This record gives sequence, C-alpha cells and structure tokens, in this order.
Amino acid sequence: MEEYKEARTQDSEAMTENRKHISKRRRLLVLDFDDTLFFTEEALSLASEEVFGKRIPVSEIRKMENAVKQPFYEHTAVKYKEYLKPNGRLIGLSKTLKLKGYEVIVLSGRHEGQLEETKYSLDLHKIPYKAIILSKKGRTISNAEWKARALSEYIPRYHEILFFDDDIANIKFIKKKFAGKNIRFFLVNKRGEREIK
Ligand SMILES: [Mg+2]
Repeated sequence: MEEYKEARTQDSEAMTENRKHISKRRRLLVLDFDDTLFFTEEALSLASEEVFGKRIPVSEIRKMENAVKQPFYEHTAVKYKEYLKPNGRLIGLSKTLKLKGYEVIVLSGRHEGQLEETKYSLDLHKIPYKAIILSKKGRTISNAEWKARALSEYIPRYHEILFFDDDIANIKFIKKKFAGKNIRFFLVNKRGEREIK
C-alpha cells in the first residue's frame, strides 16, 4: 500500500493492543476534518482575498483545478486556521460517543505536512481522537479511494463503525466498496448530519 502513508499520533499503543486481542465489541467513530469537524468557508474566503485579490465563493474555489486549489487549501489550512468554525454539534457527539466507549479517529484528505495545524484545531476544541490519519503528499488516487484504503485496515477490528463526511462522493464510494460491512454513513453539512442508507 504505497499510495498513502499514515501520520499517526497516539495510536501505536492501541495498535499493539489490537494485535494481541481483537475484541468483538469495539466501536469506532471516523470523522473527516474539513467541513465536517470544522467549517472552512470563512477561512477560505479570507484566504481568497489575500491570494486572488478578491473574495471568491467556496463553490467557485471547489471548481478550480487541483494544481491551483491544493496549494490554496494548504495555505488556508496553515495561515487561516483560527478562522475555522467548529462544528459544535459533531464535536459534542464525538465527546459523548467517546464516553460511551467509541474510539475516535480523524481521517482527512489533508496531507501529512498539515499534521500540526490539524492537531492544533482538534486539541483546541478537546476533540478526543486517538489517531489522525492524513494522506501522503502528492497522492495520485482520489480522496474517496484513499479514504477507503485507510479505512480497510480498521474494518476487521471493529464490530461497528460510524463514518462522518461532508462529501457524498466519499460516502458513496466507500459504501459501495464495503457493502455488507458494519459501517453506517452520515453526510454532514452546516444544518446537521443525516444518515445515508
Ligand atoms: Mg471534508
């Protein structure tokens, strides 16, 4: 599996434990970062003013070519991290589910060079993650495929997985790929989250 690399933080102990004893009752919460745990609209808008000289709607930024978009997102993630708006509902849910015994991982298409910024926001809001899994820089496969590959390692180790993402393409791809597995999918937007069955 050369297409991605995991940027693990607090997971190595848990991994060793996993290998020794695979419990049938383990539950996992998988959370995307951008526009799932944190809304990026304000940060992107401010960054667009700096980089392009005017405020550009997020819908237009999303349509830009990857070669333009990716460095721009990276710049935004680093410089405008203070402008990310926390998704209070979902952050609250992550804390509640942690107390109920779920393990929490953050699975994001951000590349591993953004680990520090990502950790910064998660820690600021006391999000109870045990691992942050970020993409390898310059990956060539799609975000959906990359996430599916990363998730495949976790699937055999949990009897239930809850997957939250704001991108329906990610959900559809992973849902199809792991049809019949114990994963429930939730599409996130500013108004809340809804289960995709
Ligand atoms: Mg996202």
